[in-house]
Order: sequence, then C-alpha cells, then structure tokens
Amino acid sequence: MSFTLAIVGRPNVGKSTLFNRLVGKRLALVDDQPGVTRDLREGEARLGGLRFTVIDTAGLEEATDESLQGRMRRLTERAVEMADACLFLVDGRVGILPADEVFADILRRKNAHVILGANKAEGKAADAGVIEAYSLGLGEPVRMSAEHGEGMGELLTALEPIA
Ligand code: GDP
Ligand code: MG
Repeated sequence: MSFTLAIVGRPNVGKSTLFNRLVGKRLALVDDQPGVTRDLREGEARLGGLRFTVIDTAGLEEATDESLQGRMRRLTERAVEMADACLFLVDGRVGILPADEVFADILRRKNAHVILGANKAEGKAADAGVIEAYSLGLGEPVRMSAEHGEGMGELLTALEPIA
C-alpha cells in the first residue's frame, strides 16, 4: 500500500530541499499553467525501499494580497487533508519560533498523523534547536539535514509504520 506524505512548516525550514531530495526528477504533477502559483507540488518519492507520494507546501514565499498567516493556514490545511501523514519541519539551527507553534496547533486541530523533523541539523549548531523541538509536544524530532542527506535512515524508520 502506498501513502501520501505532506511536508509542512514555515517558510525557509527546508521543505523544498527535502522534497527535491526525495523526489529527484520524478515530479508527477506540476501546475504548468503560466501565471498560476504552484501552491502544492506533488511528486513520487523514494526512500530506501519505500515508494510514496509527497506534497510540498510551496508558494508561501510569494507575495500576495492574502496575509502570510492566512495563506499558510489554508495551504497547510489543504495539504493535511490530502495526506495520510505530515512531516512537520522546523529549523534546528533557529529553534522554535512562534510561527512553528501556529503550525503545531493546526496539525493538532486537524488530528494529523505528525512526524516532527528538525532540519538543518548537520553539525553541532543545531543541538539546542533539536532539544527545543521537543517542546512542541509532537514527540521525538527526527534529526536531519535535507541538504546533506543526513537522517534519511531515521526518517525512513519513522515512515515505515505508515506504509
Ligand atoms: P522551504 O521554504 O521550507 O521550502 O525551504 P527551502 O528548501 O527553500 O530551503 C531554505 C534554505 O535553507 C535554502 O537556502 C536551503 O539551501 C537551506 N537548507 C535546506 N535544508 C538545509 C539543511 O539541511 N542544512 C542547511 N544548513 N541548510 C538547509
Ligand atoms: Mg519551498
């Protein structure tokens, strides 16, 4: 059985970097209509022996009339509804910001199956941030580096029960 994983979290935590690592060039569905914002990107991911669909909540970085907060909420809710589970990414180097708490609340309210990921955790600079991530109350964070490909085995272990 296959499953769908939504990568959610505030802008700049590394969602697209992870999406690209998981999907490579196997982008299944892109909205290629000119002028249309690519809010949600979907691709076929491979990790170890797992094959699954992954959704990247993109588009948060683009300026629109809608407030970032409203847009964030709407996109995240849509992604959560499409997915069997969510990978909630935080930035291990920055630690937990109020915006991260907003996402945690959305995910709790939606009763989402959440895997918490502390990204940018290569090296020691993220040690404090990874510890701080426990305060979200979403369980043990998977320490990872989307850019350097670290923690992918741990991510696989976290995903296996969903598959
Ligand atoms: P998004 O807005 O959540 O999609 O974040 P992006 O994937 O666009 O990444 C934002 C920035 O963080 C980019 O400059 C990435 O190169 C950087 N980044 C992503 N993953 C990592 C990581 O594991 N370690 C470090 N140091 N930087 C990362
Ligand atoms: Mg992105």
